[in-house]
Amino acid sequence: MRIGLGYDIHQLVENRDLILGGVKIPYELGLLGHSDADVLVHAIIDSMLGALALRDIGYHFPDTDEKYKNVDSLKLLAQTNKLIQKEEYKIANIDSNIICQKPKLMNYIEQMRENIANVLGLELNQISIKAKTNEKMDSTGNGIAIVANAVCLMEKI
Ligand code: ZN
Repeated sequence: MRIGLGYDIHQLVENRDLILGGVKIPYELGLLGHSDADVLVHAIIDSMLGALALRDIGYHFPDTDEKYKNVDSLKLLAQTNKLIQKEEYKIANIDSNIICQKPKLMNYIEQMRENIANVLGLELNQISIKAKTNEKMDSTGNGIAIVANAVCLMEKI
Protein backbone atom coordinates (compact mmCIF):
# COMPACT_ATOMS: atom_id res chain seq x y z
CA MET A 1 0.00 0.00 0.00
CA ARG A 2 1.13 3.54 -0.73
CA ILE A 3 -0.31 6.86 0.50
CA GLY A 4 -0.12 10.32 -1.10
CA LEU A 5 -0.92 13.86 0.00
CA GLY A 6 -2.09 16.73 -2.20
CA TYR A 7 -2.61 20.45 -1.58
CA ASP A 8 -3.63 23.34 -3.83
CA ILE A 9 -4.79 26.95 -3.60
CA HIS A 10 -6.22 29.28 -6.25
CA GLN A 11 -7.25 32.90 -6.04
CA LEU A 12 -10.92 33.91 -6.53
CA VAL A 13 -11.27 36.66 -9.16
CA GLU A 14 -13.87 38.28 -11.41
CA ASN A 15 -14.54 37.10 -14.98
CA ARG A 16 -13.62 33.45 -14.37
CA ASP A 17 -15.84 30.37 -14.00
CA LEU A 18 -15.88 28.60 -10.66
CA ILE A 19 -15.21 24.93 -11.40
CA LEU A 20 -14.77 22.45 -8.56
CA GLY A 21 -14.63 18.70 -9.11
CA GLY A 22 -15.65 19.31 -12.72
CA VAL A 23 -18.87 21.08 -11.64
CA LYS A 24 -19.50 24.64 -12.82
CA ILE A 25 -20.88 26.43 -9.76
CA PRO A 26 -22.89 29.61 -10.17
CA TYR A 27 -21.01 32.41 -8.36
CA GLU A 28 -19.87 35.96 -9.07
CA LEU A 29 -16.18 34.96 -8.82
CA GLY A 30 -14.12 32.12 -10.26
CA LEU A 31 -10.69 30.61 -9.74
CA LEU A 32 -7.66 32.12 -11.47
CA GLY A 33 -5.21 29.76 -13.17
CA HIS A 34 -3.64 28.61 -16.40
CA SER A 35 -6.00 25.62 -16.64
CA ASP A 36 -9.64 25.73 -15.53
CA ALA A 37 -8.11 26.11 -12.01
CA ASP A 38 -10.11 23.22 -10.53
CA VAL A 39 -8.37 23.32 -7.16
CA LEU A 40 -9.98 20.10 -5.89
CA VAL A 41 -8.96 18.04 -8.91
CA HIS A 42 -5.43 19.48 -8.74
CA ALA A 43 -5.07 18.43 -5.09
CA ILE A 44 -6.35 14.95 -5.97
CA ILE A 45 -3.89 14.65 -8.88
CA ASP A 46 -1.01 15.61 -6.58
CA SER A 47 -2.14 13.04 -4.00
CA MET A 48 -2.14 10.32 -6.69
CA LEU A 49 1.29 11.34 -8.02
CA GLY A 50 2.63 11.66 -4.47
CA ALA A 51 1.50 8.15 -3.54
CA LEU A 52 3.84 6.71 -6.18
CA ALA A 53 6.58 9.38 -5.84
CA LEU A 54 5.91 10.53 -9.43
CA ARG A 55 6.79 14.22 -8.81
CA ASP A 56 3.93 16.77 -9.01
CA ILE A 57 1.24 18.23 -11.23
CA GLY A 58 3.49 21.07 -12.44
CA TYR A 59 6.08 18.55 -13.61
CA HIS A 60 3.61 16.54 -15.71
CA PHE A 61 1.35 19.40 -16.86
CA PRO A 62 3.45 22.62 -16.86
CA ASP A 63 1.50 25.90 -16.69
CA THR A 64 3.87 27.37 -19.29
CA ASP A 65 2.51 24.91 -21.87
CA GLU A 66 -0.16 26.48 -24.15
CA LYS A 67 -1.74 23.05 -24.53
CA TYR A 68 -2.97 23.26 -20.92
CA LYS A 69 -4.48 26.76 -21.19
CA ASN A 70 -8.03 26.59 -19.77
CA VAL A 71 -7.83 22.79 -20.00
CA ASP A 72 -10.55 20.74 -18.29
CA SER A 73 -8.72 19.39 -15.21
CA LEU A 74 -10.75 16.16 -15.39
CA LYS A 75 -8.71 15.43 -18.55
CA LEU A 76 -5.51 15.84 -16.54
CA LEU A 77 -7.01 13.52 -13.91
CA ALA A 78 -7.65 10.88 -16.59
CA GLN A 79 -4.04 11.19 -17.80
CA THR A 80 -2.78 10.87 -14.22
CA ASN A 81 -4.85 7.71 -13.82
CA LYS A 82 -3.04 6.25 -16.85
CA LEU A 83 0.32 6.94 -15.18
CA ILE A 84 -0.89 5.12 -12.07
CA GLN A 85 -2.10 2.13 -14.11
CA LYS A 86 1.25 1.99 -15.93
CA GLU A 87 2.91 1.57 -12.51
CA GLU A 88 0.41 -1.27 -11.84
CA TYR A 89 -1.34 0.43 -8.95
CA LYS A 90 -5.02 1.10 -8.29
CA ILE A 91 -6.73 3.54 -5.96
CA ALA A 92 -8.23 2.16 -2.75
CA ASN A 93 -9.81 5.47 -1.74
CA ILE A 94 -9.45 9.24 -1.87
CA ASP A 95 -10.45 11.64 0.90
CA SER A 96 -10.44 15.40 0.40
CA ASN A 97 -11.35 18.80 1.85
CA ILE A 98 -12.40 21.96 0.06
CA ILE A 99 -11.89 25.05 2.22
CA CYS A 100 -14.20 27.72 0.91
CA GLN A 101 -16.12 30.46 2.75
CA LYS A 102 -18.53 31.21 -0.11
CA PRO A 103 -20.46 29.94 -2.02
CA LYS A 104 -22.07 27.02 -0.16
CA LEU A 105 -20.93 23.80 -1.82
CA MET A 106 -23.22 21.25 -0.17
CA ASN A 107 -25.55 20.89 -3.17
CA TYR A 108 -22.68 20.22 -5.59
CA ILE A 109 -20.63 17.66 -3.64
CA GLU A 110 -22.46 14.58 -4.97
CA GLN A 111 -21.96 15.66 -8.59
CA MET A 112 -18.24 16.28 -7.90
CA ARG A 113 -17.90 12.78 -6.40
CA GLU A 114 -19.65 11.27 -9.43
CA ASN A 115 -17.43 13.16 -11.89
CA ILE A 116 -14.23 12.07 -10.17
CA ALA A 117 -15.37 8.47 -9.64
CA ASN A 118 -16.38 8.24 -13.33
CA VAL A 119 -13.03 9.54 -14.61
CA LEU A 120 -11.08 7.21 -12.31
CA GLY A 121 -13.36 4.20 -12.88
CA LEU A 122 -14.11 3.93 -9.15
CA GLU A 123 -17.19 3.44 -7.00
CA LEU A 124 -18.78 6.48 -5.40
CA ASN A 125 -17.86 5.22 -1.91
CA GLN A 126 -14.16 5.40 -2.82
CA ILE A 127 -14.33 9.20 -3.23
CA SER A 128 -14.92 11.44 -0.22
CA ILE A 129 -15.22 15.23 -0.51
CA LYS A 130 -15.79 17.39 2.55
CA ALA A 131 -16.61 21.10 2.38
CA LYS A 132 -15.30 23.34 5.16
CA THR A 133 -15.10 27.07 5.81
CA ASN A 134 -12.13 28.69 7.47
CA GLU A 135 -14.36 30.53 9.97
CA LYS A 136 -13.77 33.85 8.17
CA MET A 137 -10.01 33.74 8.83
CA ASP A 138 -7.12 33.91 6.38
CA SER A 139 -7.37 34.05 2.57
CA THR A 140 -10.01 31.34 2.26
CA GLY A 141 -12.09 32.69 5.13
CA ASN A 142 -11.99 36.17 3.59
CA GLY A 143 -13.29 34.78 0.31
CA ILE A 144 -10.23 35.61 -1.79
CA ALA A 145 -9.06 32.03 -2.35
CA ILE A 146 -10.15 28.40 -2.24
CA VAL A 147 -7.90 25.64 -0.86
CA ALA A 148 -8.17 21.88 -1.34
CA ASN A 149 -6.37 18.99 0.37
CA ALA A 150 -6.48 15.35 -0.62
CA VAL A 151 -5.08 12.01 0.46
CA CYS A 152 -5.02 8.94 -1.74
CA LEU A 153 -4.37 5.33 -0.74
CA MET A 154 -3.19 2.94 -3.45
CA GLU A 155 -2.66 -0.78 -3.70
CA LYS A 156 -0.64 -2.86 -6.12
CA ILE A 157 -2.79 -4.54 -8.77
ZN1 ZN B 1 -4.03 24.22 -9.18
